[in-house]
Amino acid sequence: MSQTIEHLKCLIIGSGPAGYTAAIYAARANMFPVLYQGTQPGGQLTTTNEVENFPGYPKGITGPAMMLELQEQAARFGTDVRDGWITKVDFSGSVHKVWVNETTEIHADTVIISTGASAKYLGIDSEQKYLKLGGGVSACAVCDGFFYKNQEVVIVGAGDSACEEAHYLSKLCTKVTMLVRRDEFRASKIMAKRVQNTDNIEILFNTETEEVLGDGQVVTGVRAKNNKTQEVLDIQATGFFVAIGHEPNTKIFSNYLKLDDTGYIINTPGSSKTNVEGVFVSGDAADHIYRQAVTAAGTGCMAALDAERYLAAKD
Ligand code: NDP
Repeated sequence: MSQTIEHLKCLIIGSGPAGYTAAIYAARANMFPVLYQGTQPGGQLTTTNEVENFPGYPKGITGPAMMLELQEQAARFGTDVRDGWITKVDFSGSVHKVWVNETTEIHADTVIISTGASAKYLGIDSEQKYLKLGGGVSACAVCDGFFYKNQEVVIVGAGDSACEEAHYLSKLCTKVTMLVRRDEFRASKIMAKRVQNTDNIEILFNTETEEVLGDGQVVTGVRAKNNKTQEVLDIQATGFFVAIGHEPNTKIFSNYLKLDDTGYIINTPGSSKTNVEGVFVSGDAADHIYRQAVTAAGTGCMAALDAERYLAAKD
């Protein structure tokens, strides 16, 4: 049984850079936003160690610290930041309904979706261990590649992302070893060709990760196995990059919002509007291309401005 507890002008779902930036703008525009943080308060950046590419932090900042600062900035203007997980939505009427933790029902004139995407990982224990330690496992070459300048790294994956990231890393690192589990790429021919033509990228086909090796603190290598010959090989590396895809956190919206084939919300180009009036999207939930904190923040700003204009036009 659910209970209607309040009617909001603006509900923001998600607490990454997109959600908090939307909150800062919405709060300053007197929209009294309520932001639900979800199960991973702070979003993907909380799994990142050092953030050096977000403008305004000349000395860099850790991901968790940056998210706390964004939360503080959103709260400063009156955003009501709450714990809670949106489990269901109903966007069929003019008032948008959402349910928090299955039970509490909230009605909102505008909803800004900033639920992000989750990087997929292999799920093996050693990968998760060094990911949690911040010791050399990453799912974002653009974010973390710089820390491996002039070092040797391994990347797993064979899609367009893996090729793009391998190529990016090849410009920073002395050697990039790419582990491809089948005997061919999934990536487009042009992307695959680019990595094949790069001197310091070594591609190992039919090869899977057995274990991420380390000294207990940081990654020192990767144990890989050829799934055809069963040959096991230890590769020296200080960084292990996982580029096997992302999963946008959009399932609960799929009955109402238009999604692309891979689950990303389709927005009107150049705006944050979705196919449902009053529902806006920002950040990685609609972006499989850029996926950066700064681009997420930019689209969070757009979503708040679009929501404000939508409300103004209705008044
Ligand atoms: P994809 O789903 O396209 O590729 C994932 C890759 O990871 C596949 O090669 C897959 O292998 C591999 N993989 C999955 N699980 C494992 C595992 N457990 N162990 C080893 N390998 C694994 O994801 P992408 O992120 O690369 O791309 C997503 C979408 O974004 C695509 O449509 C892509 O075209 C697009 N994109 C476009 C870009 C561009 O145009 N510039 C840049 C980046 C992405 P297998 O092939 O064996 O299934």
